[in-house]
Amino acid sequence: MTIEHDGLFIGGDWVAPHSTARITVTSPASEQPLGSVPHADEEDVDKAVSAARKAFDDPQGWAHWDPARRAEALHRFADVMEQRSSEIARSVTAQNGMPLMFSEPSEGRTSAFVLRHAARLITEMPPERMQERADGTGRTLIRREPIGVVGAIPAWNFPQTLAAFKYASALAAGCTVVLKPPQETVLDAVLLADVVKEAGLPPGVMNIVFGGAETGSSLVGHPGVDKIGFTGSTAVGRLIAEKCARLLKPVTLELGGKSAAVLLDDVDVDAVVNSAAFLIMTMFNSGQACWASTRILAPRSRYEEIVEAMASMMGKLVVGDPMDPETQIGPMATEKHRARVEGYIRKGVGEGARLVTGGGRPQHPEKGWFVEPTLFADVDNRSTIAQDEIFGPVLSVIPYQDEDDAVRIANASRYGLSGTVWTKSTDRGIALARRVHSGMYSINGRRTDLGAPFGGEKESGLGRELGMEGLASYQRLQSIFV
Ligand code: NAD
Repeated sequence: MTIEHDGLFIGGDWVAPHSTARITVTSPASEQPLGSVPHADEEDVDKAVSAARKAFDDPQGWAHWDPARRAEALHRFADVMEQRSSEIARSVTAQNGMPLMFSEPSEGRTSAFVLRHAARLITEMPPERMQERADGTGRTLIRREPIGVVGAIPAWNFPQTLAAFKYASALAAGCTVVLKPPQETVLDAVLLADVVKEAGLPPGVMNIVFGGAETGSSLVGHPGVDKIGFTGSTAVGRLIAEKCARLLKPVTLELGGKSAAVLLDDVDVDAVVNSAAFLIMTMFNSGQACWASTRILAPRSRYEEIVEAMASMMGKLVVGDPMDPETQIGPMATEKHRARVEGYIRKGVGEGARLVTGGGRPQHPEKGWFVEPTLFADVDNRSTIAQDEIFGPVLSVIPYQDEDDAVRIANASRYGLSGTVWTKSTDRGIALARRVHSGMYSINGRRTDLGAPFGGEKESGLGRELGMEGLASYQRLQSIFV
């Protein structure tokens, strides 16, 4: 059964769009249509921004509520998200092919967690402080205010989580939001709008318009939008940054990655490579995760042992229907994206890397945009497959001489989002982590802390989401010299 939806979520309710265009979502597993929604045009974006503006400018409204009252509303929002979490996770899986074993905990449950955390932060963060002037001649009052109307633009790989990373902090800070979900995954955003309505957020505080690049571009350029929170590719992030620079509009950018997993020479190779943590850190969402460690750095002294263990692990991964709870690797989110991943596999072979396992399409399932889990060995870190973000189930094993060499290779990337080190010694792991230029780093596959700043360096982004720092990026400061 397909879902045909007719409205855009503006001013607290579903409204008829100005545009007659539609977006159809196709299942990456069955290749059949799943449903469609209206494709918002510039006029629709304007309507949504006006609703958000009106809600923000209301002198008795959301922005002026006591933080504790806003926090209460966010907890109610989280309550309803929790009630609908399984339905939301299944909707994401149906659209982007994320195996249910990953979407249930991430797409189903992260939003509520992040909302509750932001609610707690805003009640703990003093909205203003009085301090002595630096020259001792009086006092200065430093105030934090919500930045205004926020345009939130996430990517399709974690559509719910990445949206929540933006709206949770923005709403907690007292901003109002216009969310433009990715066009590959709009149907779960219909459910999100229903949640917002059921949770009773005041009209206009959270608005949702569906669309692609043009809709996103209209939102970024709209003079009524005060800040942009973006997650997506580096190429689009650059376009948005250029536009925001001209408009002098603050922007947070969460972009691509090409992180390295460093296996130190003390590891128990079989235990590490076959652990759930290693699978998550390298192949989560079938490799369609910005923070995935897709370059596997192996010490020369144990190189073949690591390649063999990885080939054996990757050969055993369960590829199939993402709705099956046993499935570990689902399809690529779109047919176009599969073609891109396959292009990189051909490039890897052409550039002389050793194809150890995979490289093609699995025989089963017969339908769907699947790519076999693929392992390359003897990869030169300067080659295309080691430098470009492939965003699929493709890993490269790169040899290193010693720890200095491992750090040099890990840092020889235009990205700087994440990374992992695998070792029996936490101290050795932390010492290595300190030397890697990335916004986030994990020792032995420890997962992201959703209360800590999230984001990257170099071409992986600008600014941070989550934690106090993420919340502060949705605030502006005023100094009053008393
Ligand atoms: P994308 O850049 O094509 O699209 C991202 C979003 O931007 C979508 O909502 C899209 O509709 C919108 N958009 C496209 N062109 C636009 C424009 N000109 N103006 C405004 N909005 C526009 O990225 P994608 O293919 O959807 O996502 C994959 C990328 O996202 C990968 O590079 C991945 O690494 C990155 N990503 C980064 C993080 C992170 O936190 N750093 C997390 C997840 C994904």
